[in-house]
Amino acid sequence: MSRVLIIGAGGVGNVVVKKCAQHPDVFQEICLASRTKAKCDAIAADIKRLYGISIVTAQVDADQVQELAALLVEYKPDLVVNVALPYQDLTIMDACLIAGVNYLDTANYEPKDQAHFEYSWQWAYQERFREKGLMAVLGCGFDPGVTNVFCAYAQKHLYDSITTIDILDCNAGDHGHPFATNFNPEINIREVTQTVRHWQHGQWLETPAILNDGCVHFTFDYPVAGPKESYLLYHEEMESLVRHIRGLERIRFWMTFSPAYITHLQVLENVGMTRIDPVDFEGRQIVPLQFLKALLPDPGSLGENYTGKAVIGCVFDGFKEGKQTRKYIYNVCDHAEAYREVQAQAVSYTTGVPAMIGAMMMLKGIWRGEGVFNVEQLDPDAFMEALNACGLPWQVVDFNGRLPE
Ligand code: NDP
Repeated sequence: MSRVLIIGAGGVGNVVVKKCAQHPDVFQEICLASRTKAKCDAIAADIKRLYGISIVTAQVDADQVQELAALLVEYKPDLVVNVALPYQDLTIMDACLIAGVNYLDTANYEPKDQAHFEYSWQWAYQERFREKGLMAVLGCGFDPGVTNVFCAYAQKHLYDSITTIDILDCNAGDHGHPFATNFNPEINIREVTQTVRHWQHGQWLETPAILNDGCVHFTFDYPVAGPKESYLLYHEEMESLVRHIRGLERIRFWMTFSPAYITHLQVLENVGMTRIDPVDFEGRQIVPLQFLKALLPDPGSLGENYTGKAVIGCVFDGFKEGKQTRKYIYNVCDHAEAYREVQAQAVSYTTGVPAMIGAMMMLKGIWRGEGVFNVEQLDPDAFMEALNACGLPWQVVDFNGRLPE
């Protein structure tokens, strides 16, 4: 009998819980806990209507370690799936250690007062999880997550050594709003306005952030979606992949942005709306980016009228039996189909499905271990099979396209 506790009732949380409910043989008991219980109850009502399954809901402030630990001790889950915000990663890991529960998340820790994310804070939990005989799996969404699994699969089956990886993330969908972000606006805007880094010959190289002169971009011809402008970006999975992929000489991450997105973001940045430091407003302190979040559409609400595809994958270059080979592994996800299935757009879907699959791998004992793991350290085969079975089918093709040198 397995029991899972999911934290966070946002766009991604909605998908994780519904996909878990689709597999009652693995997820026999489900609790959804979040800051606003009404959101958990609305998802629970949907699940009852769609699948005839009852789940438990709870209110919790995951910033409060003792409060969360008390919930874990009371509910006794085998696993916590953290799909709240990156700010809560460490407090949730602390609570898991107190209550003796395994852990999985989709995004690495980020302090609230600093737009900076890296794995060092969570890797520092290695010994504590190992000593307690617990497993923590980090970054099990799509990117990070499936992109790491694609790399592990390429390393295991397609290459003797991989020299370069280019991760390409394209959202060619249309939500009908002049400007909206596909996941939490605060986290999204903090991520895309960072100084860009990619890794080459053992060191991190910096290039200007997307809105600045000299930012690096090119047109990539995506399967199904066609040619799209793709911008070099820093993304967290590169930090762990450079440690775990043999022979790697370069890794880059590219993301598409529409001209409308770039223009809006440029204006918002120019007028100070993306600032994360508190400013005085009529006698009280507000953080402009948090205020902006309150004005923008809730990413969880975008699904209803979303059309088009998200195409995310990895292009590899390397050697197999002495022969140079270039392969592209990718998934195409349709916004409208995701909405029909779980009332979510494709970005929430492509994050929530892999989180459910990662949880399934842990609960079935296919992924097991003591300590803190990134996804590419675990066996990719059963996960790749589950992607095909659970709504995110992938393709491997020879790559004959063009990438910048
Ligand atoms: P949302 O903002 O839609 O949802 C976040 C949820 O977490 C909300 O329900 C929120 O509660 C809840 N929450 C926030 N703070 C707390 C707290 N202190 N205690 C309890 N609950 C809290 O975000 P998304 O669903 O879009 O994203 C969820 C996660 O997925 C993020 O970490 C994001 O970075 C990650 N992600 C990962 C991707 C990947 O491919 N790896 C891609 C996209 C997202 P309330 O409703 O009260 O605000």
